[in-house]
Amino acid sequence: MFHKILVANRGEIAVRIIRACRELGIRSVAIYSEADRDAMHTRLADEAICIGPAPSSQSYLNIPSIMAAAELTDAEAIHPGFGFLAENADFAEIVMASGINWIGPSPQAMRIMGDKVKAKQAMKEAGVPLVPGSNGAVSSIDEAKIVAREAGYPVIVKASAGGGGRGMKVVHSEAALASAFSMCQREAGAAFGDDTVFIEKFLELPRHIEVQVLGDKHGNIVHLFERECSLQRNNQKILEEAPSPFLDGETRERICAAGVAAARAVDYVGAGTIEFLMNPDKSFYFIEMNTRIQVEHPVTEWVTGIDLIEWQIRVAAGEPLDFKQEDIALNGHAIECRINAEDPFRFIPCPGTIELYHAPGGRSVRVDSAIYTGYTIPPHYDSMIAKIIGHARTREKCIRRMQRAIDELAILGVTTNQELHRRLLANPAFQQGDFNIHFLEGWLRQLEHHG
Ligand code: ADP
Repeated sequence: MFHKILVANRGEIAVRIIRACRELGIRSVAIYSEADRDAMHTRLADEAICIGPAPSSQSYLNIPSIMAAAELTDAEAIHPGFGFLAENADFAEIVMASGINWIGPSPQAMRIMGDKVKAKQAMKEAGVPLVPGSNGAVSSIDEAKIVAREAGYPVIVKASAGGGGRGMKVVHSEAALASAFSMCQREAGAAFGDDTVFIEKFLELPRHIEVQVLGDKHGNIVHLFERECSLQRNNQKILEEAPSPFLDGETRERICAAGVAAARAVDYVGAGTIEFLMNPDKSFYFIEMNTRIQVEHPVTEWVTGIDLIEWQIRVAAGEPLDFKQEDIALNGHAIECRINAEDPFRFIPCPGTIELYHAPGGRSVRVDSAIYTGYTIPPHYDSMIAKIIGHARTREKCIRRMQRAIDELAILGVTTNQELHRRLLANPAFQQGDFNIHFLEGWLRQLEHHG
């Protein structure tokens, strides 16, 4: 096992990884920007090293500076967390070339999955269901017309190198196709340096359901069931749960098997997530794989009892998984609410100083956060400041538990989206599990109308 790990991240995920290291008896090294001198990850790690000024481009994305920190502190491995450099295959390669262990999948797997056209090709070969549309890249408007007609409108034009919900355009009729197609190409070229685009049928009322997988370096790959992540705004997830209230046992088996097949196709090592869209008739299609740990991993940890960060570290150190697929059972229900420092209905970030912070507690409530009373949230980074996660035997009980946990949470001094969660948890459609990826935005528009 490693003796020392450098955590190339900040915020609650850095704290989550530092805590896992401590439990495993591994020393941790935090890196921090000048804006994060008083951040919790800086204080909690065994060692901390400043890597540059506040802007991410000069600190948390600054590869030479991070590598210097790793060498200076003699770190044996680097955990990238999520965001920042977590899905940067060049960074993974540099880490490995420096003789440092990369806590994540191979750069090859990251490269295939980071390119949507390549990923779809690999998934097709592995028999994973794909959204109907072009077989690979579409290079001309004439070709686009043929593909779109065959798939049937509406369609979505997507940049192969796109991510984070950027580089996509929905097209409702052939009249609008040509301009959307060339705009998508141009924007992709400018934003990602790659103007490859492809076309998919636009699914109108899908749910976003994703499968957690875990692989080791000995060829073992298991799934840890699914997460329901349909409650999104602007492609940002707000509330996630496991299992999905929409799945029956047979569909669960099929989608989880597809997740394992997807991971196997790229010899996946570590924790990864395969994202699917699912139609109301329960047909489902691969959209992408995230080759990292995800924000919402705690709900899976709770229903499976498996510590995903611990296992990321153990498999990176070469340990085989010490359980088999049939040993992993679904136990109860878990929900996560993301607490963001933002205006809850206008979604404008609200950084500032936290005058008082009181976290909920009690039976089966977990809080992953990096804030404290007196902490000043810097304006340079993500607005997510805490994750409240609850578990119970049934979904109904879990909702009740989350309602009381959200009620107990007190954050004074900055505006948060606490009230949004309070209302969402009380919403009858949410409580019945009756929603899709458009639900949250529609409901927010309704709230705006009625004040
Ligand atoms: P990104 O890498 O930018 O996250 P994805 O391919 O994962 O891109 O798509 C992001 C979101 O866009 C999905 O969660 C879904 O809401 C929507 N989306 C993507 N493809 C389709 C599709 N074919 N039909 C309907 N919605 C889609």
